[in-house]
Amino acid sequence: MVRDVRRVTAPIVTGVLAAAGLLLAHPLQGTQGSSRPAVRNVIFINGDGMAAAHREAARLYYAGLDGQLTMDTFPSSGQLTTSPDDPEDVVTDSAAGASAWATGVRTYNGAISVDPAGKALPTLGAQAKAAGKATGLVTTAQVTDASPAAFFANATDRAVQDDIARQYLQVSKPDVILGGGEDWWLPAGSPGAYPDQPAEDPTEGSRGTKGDLIAQARADGYRYVSTPAQLAAAGPGKLLGLFANQEMFQQRPEGQGDVYAPVVSLATMARKALDTLATDRDGFFLLIEEEGVDEFAHNNNGARTLQAMGELEKAVTVARDYAARHRDTLVVVTGDHETGGLAVEEVNATDESGDGTSAEDGPFPVKGSTFRFVIDWTTTAHTGQDVPITAYGPLADRFTGKHPNTFVYDVLKPVLTR
Ligand SMILES: [Zn+2]
Repeated sequence: MVRDVRRVTAPIVTGVLAAAGLLLAHPLQGTQGSSRPAVRNVIFINGDGMAAAHREAARLYYAGLDGQLTMDTFPSSGQLTTSPDDPEDVVTDSAAGASAWATGVRTYNGAISVDPAGKALPTLGAQAKAAGKATGLVTTAQVTDASPAAFFANATDRAVQDDIARQYLQVSKPDVILGGGEDWWLPAGSPGAYPDQPAEDPTEGSRGTKGDLIAQARADGYRYVSTPAQLAAAGPGKLLGLFANQEMFQQRPEGQGDVYAPVVSLATMARKALDTLATDRDGFFLLIEEEGVDEFAHNNNGARTLQAMGELEKAVTVARDYAARHRDTLVVVTGDHETGGLAVEEVNATDESGDGTSAEDGPFPVKGSTFRFVIDWTTTAHTGQDVPITAYGPLADRFTGKHPNTFVYDVLKPVLTR
């Protein structure tokens, strides 16, 4: 009934709204009239530390000179600036970056969706839940790491990951939580499924101060899984999967114990999350994050950075395929900041950035050709480069132009809160 009325009156209404400058207040309706489906589901994908050069290196390596990554085939593309509102820093960290997306407020580095004065802000994750949508987060970082945390928790310091886990269970209640970080869900002395002080990183070990939050999750109705087989077998309903003590990989420089071999892939976790969340008739919000891009770029490890980019790309393809079958689904891919000052360079004899960690990595083959390229680095930290943002599905065309990263919130909030 509503649809019939809108079809008849759409041209007039659209004209009036456009004249009044009100179209942006009604993003569900879109700007193309009633032919375009409204956004019911949002899949927001963070390649942590991923900017244009990371995408280009991965494009050459995985798709070749004439090829495209799935994330680059999305019809809309724009740029985001990433500056925090920090008393000392010009360049953002993941906490301030994700807080900008999740709350629309620029804040200080280390802040988890609190303003510069430390006041808690409404988050997209919690608001989507309050609007009746299912919500979820999938990451190869700790599930309580800064980027997912900013969508589902508030904290003046990103370090309090055990309290962030507690907030997931008691406050924001995401339906699906999949990733690493088991150490924060259990008190010291309770190793859990992933042993304390493992050989690959003896600094890992349970360290929570909020009790046994895995037991709490089970009591709250979550199915808890810790292996790929358990994940595959999990039926419908709330799902908590923890697949590593901390990150689902070991971030180190080349040949120094660097490992990227998550026990379940980001794509597998994303597929499971979509299966679970899609049963909610009100729609869903899902955050997907590949943390390895950032962590290996911090270590100026080109091969592992490319590997993590490849896994991210597979997860993006899972999301795009879902959205292609469900036309009311918006997929957005971006990064929270650039990491490493990564540059794609010709293979030649000079390495302008010198030896040590910042030395050139490669050469890497350009797929389908005899060409090769090297990856060079200028820093082991983040940089202030813009990040590309690409989008697929209804409302994708909003993600064009150049905007501050808070723009993500401006577009998604009306969609997720109705
Ligand atoms: Zn970082």
